[in-house]
Amino acid sequence: MKKSAADIREDLKAHVDFLAEAGAGFVVRRAEDKAAARAGGGEAPPFPASPLPSLAERPPQTDAERQALEEIDRQVRACTICVLHKFRTNAVPGEGNFAAELMFIGEGPGRDEDLQGRPFVGRAGQLLRKIIAAMTFREDEVYIANMVKCRPPENRVPHHEEIEACSPYLLRQIELIRPRVIVTLGKTPTDYFVPGREGMTARRGRFGEYRGIPVMPTFHPSYLVRNEGNRELKRMVWEDMQKVMSLLGRK
Ligand code: URA
Ligand code: SF4
Repeated sequence: MKKSAADIREDLKAHVDFLAEAGAGFVVRRAEDKAAARAGGGEAPPFPASPLPSLAERPPQTDAERQALEEIDRQVRACTICVLHKFRTNAVPGEGNFAAELMFIGEGPGRDEDLQGRPFVGRAGQLLRKIIAAMTFREDEVYIANMVKCRPPENRVPHHEEIEACSPYLLRQIELIRPRVIVTLGKTPTDYFVPGREGMTARRGRFGEYRGIPVMPTFHPSYLVRNEGNRELKRMVWEDMQKVMSLLGRK
């Protein structure tokens, strides 16, 4: 059955209300900025209305923040905001250390991830976990998440509306975890965090930035799996990860 426009509005409102309750200040602040701009009679500023505060400083994480992260997990597992919920076995909120210095962001759960409710547990995941180990990090030191939390049918690329619907969860996770570095795996998260026109080959290996956090785009591990014999691809990913390691003092 198709949802009516009113139902969709209700769903979205519930989504935003939840995020505000979970402490997602940015949702509320943005609305307030616009209201303030209107009330002041001035023109609403061109985008961004007010840049989100930098996350580059890392004050110690609070219990409330850890609880908010757990609450996001629960909300994601019950979420029906976008159409992807219809196809899932399990939503995949992400996993790892809530105070991680290093965060990896993939595209979306695949079949194995959907069955287990955990990110990066299939073949590409095994490779990612090897890369993490090679970077001298334990899996429980880093955080692993995806751009969308439910598996797109046939592993298709998530649609723009799905990414828009789901991204508040991920953005809030980033805000609460405050990683020192983010690695975007493949085009989907790279387009979101460090948009650009060139292909991944041109964009990988150079730090971009999201809210003061350096963002390193690199190839998706499933691309490496599909091109198994290609040592050049592996070499490039390793080169990118070494830049991340230097930044984190691991090299
Ligand atoms: N590919 C992704 O982008 N994410 C996963 O969790 C697994 C495979
Ligand atoms: Fe909700 Fe994200 Fe799953 Fe869509 S993909 S139903 S927004 S958790």
